[in-house]
Amino acid sequence: MAIINNTWEEIAEVLKKAEKVLVFTHQKMDGDAVGSSCALVRVLRQMGKEAYVLIEDDELADNLKFLNDGYCTTDEHIIENPDLCVCADASELSRFPKRSSKFKTGKTTMCIDHHLAKEPFCDYHYVDSQAAAASVLVHHAIRAMGAEIDKETASLLFAGITTDTGNFQYSNTNEDAFLTAAELAKAGADINHISVQLYENVSLQKMRLKAMAMENMELLAGGKLAMTAVTQQMLKDCSARMIDAEGIVSELRSIQGTEIAILLKEDTDKIFVSLRAKGDADVQKIAAKFGGGGHVKASGCTLNHVSLKEARDGLAEAAEEALEAMTESPEE
Ligand code: 5GP
Ligand code: MN
Repeated sequence: MAIINNTWEEIAEVLKKAEKVLVFTHQKMDGDAVGSSCALVRVLRQMGKEAYVLIEDDELADNLKFLNDGYCTTDEHIIENPDLCVCADASELSRFPKRSSKFKTGKTTMCIDHHLAKEPFCDYHYVDSQAAAASVLVHHAIRAMGAEIDKETASLLFAGITTDTGNFQYSNTNEDAFLTAAELAKAGADINHISVQLYENVSLQKMRLKAMAMENMELLAGGKLAMTAVTQQMLKDCSARMIDAEGIVSELRSIQGTEIAILLKEDTDKIFVSLRAKGDADVQKIAAKFGGGGHVKASGCTLNHVSLKEARDGLAEAAEEALEAMTESPEE
């Protein structure tokens, strides 16, 4: 069943009516997850409501911590009977598995997202896979409520848009992303400060991990496929955490001639996979074969109970097949 969006007026009405609101977002939060969910909570609090982002992870990535000014909590009991549960930057319960049962306790539920969503699962939806970031859509929602966007809210939303568009470089960067960014700049977003915090604040451990992952990289399919892995051993060797693997997959994609980049992240009993595409390649289809999803140019999947070698072989085969199919029917 396809998702039918509500109007912004309906979304705004529901947000304005709720007194106790919990906001959810996807696990392994990225800049857009943090920016969109925290901005919504900030504005709701300014309207006199009780609101929190109930997060999955115990910790935010180092370069995102500056965005969380007391908005996020891991305490499920912080609000017992929420009037409204909203998920931002996530449109499947599986994207926040630990919190999904709490999400369902909302008297009303709502989804504001820009992923390719499979099925409606909330009372209210605004899902637009053309939007560059969930932060663009949250900006719409805040505007529809007629609420003020102060410097901090503007900074949160700007952080979401710059990170999800690869600082206005990726193929999802569109007119609306620039127009929203311009409005946020006008509202006082401190663009240089946010950019330095996000992009020029890399720990030595993270830099070492990236160097090691790049050193171990494989180039397959005549250079069109770049793959590497981050193992638990590598984390130990670099005193790094898995969160520090963020960014490696875009680095792989940036290599000349690469069309698909794949990063395998070894966890205790599962492997998280990040896929990126350049040019005409579609990694959403590859991720879907392994039960995952995301966007055409950036997707992911989670493989349970497989070895790193099996994951590597399975994904390499699927990616090579996809690349071959592209050369056979380039117009598609
Ligand atoms: P990343 O590689 O940054 O972790 O994820 C890129 C995109 O892939 C995310 O925006 C998200 O949409 C999607 N994604 C990542 N992991 C998973 C997963 O396990 N399942 C699904 N459905 N999507 C994922
Ligand atoms: Mn996003």
